[in-house]
Parts: sequence; structure tokens; C-alpha cells
Amino acid sequence: MSESGVEASEAEGEHAAKGTGQSEACQRCGRNQGLVGKYDVWLCRQCFREIARSMGFKKFK
Ligand SMILES: [Zn+2]
Repeated sequence: MSESGVEASEAEGEHAAKGTGQSEACQRCGRNQGLVGKYDVWLCRQCFREIARSMGFKKFK
């Protein structure tokens, strides 16, 4: 991991994305709508459901 200095101050400073400045997006399809950040993985609700099913989750609270 490179500790890159974040000195490039872009116009949008409101979104303080934690991590390597990687905005949250579905790690499966890349969309950023209805994201579910669970299990240290960002997934949109669709992919989360599909993955949850494939992983064996029948019901998740
Ligand atoms: Zn997705």
C-alpha cells in the first residue's frame, strides 16, 4: 500500500471517502446505487441479493 499524499484538493471535498479515495461502488457491477456495505464488500442491492443467494443466505435480517 502506498501512502500517497492526498494534496490534490478537488472541488468536491464533502465526500470524504475513507480508504484510498476509492468511492463506494458495487464491486461486482460497478454501479453505485443502493449500495450495501457489508462484509467489507460494497455491493449494490441487486448483486448483494444474487451473491447472498449464491452464498447460501436464505434470509438475512
Ligand atoms: Zn452490483
